[in-house]
Amino acid sequence: MTEETIFAKIIRGEIPADIVYQDDRATAFRDISPQAPTHILIVPNNPIPTVNDVSEQDEADLGHLFVVAAELAKQEGIAEDGFRLIVNCNRDGGQIVFHLHMHLLGGRPLGRMVARPK
Ligand code: 5GP
Repeated sequence: MTEETIFAKIIRGEIPADIVYQDDRATAFRDISPQAPTHILIVPNNPIPTVNDVSEQDEADLGHLFVVAAELAKQEGIAEDGFRLIVNCNRDGGQIVFHLHMHLLGGRPLGRMVARPK
């Protein structure tokens, strides 16, 4: 069985978070450590640890994350200027919470897609 993360508790309302959207498939809440004026995490309610664990049966849930992202980008007023969606996977991807999630970042120019190594 998949180990539960803090995101599962946020989805169930057991610990506080600034939830901006929720339906039966997905929950979206503001990142506790925002990297841009808008930094929202969009999370499928059914936990999938990483992108490596995705299967065909997840297609509807994961496609829905984009629908929510587009709606939230409009609500946040960043749709026209643009934004970035990120899904990190495992160590090299920088994933720290093992409940797959999409970052919605915007509200300022976000620069290069990937930082150059120093
Ligand atoms: P990852 O690196 O796994 O893609 O991103 C996890 C994100 O979750 C990080 O940006 C981190 O700031 C955020 N985060 C971790 N714990 C919490 C929490 O308890 N509440 C909220 N709102 N965000 C969290």
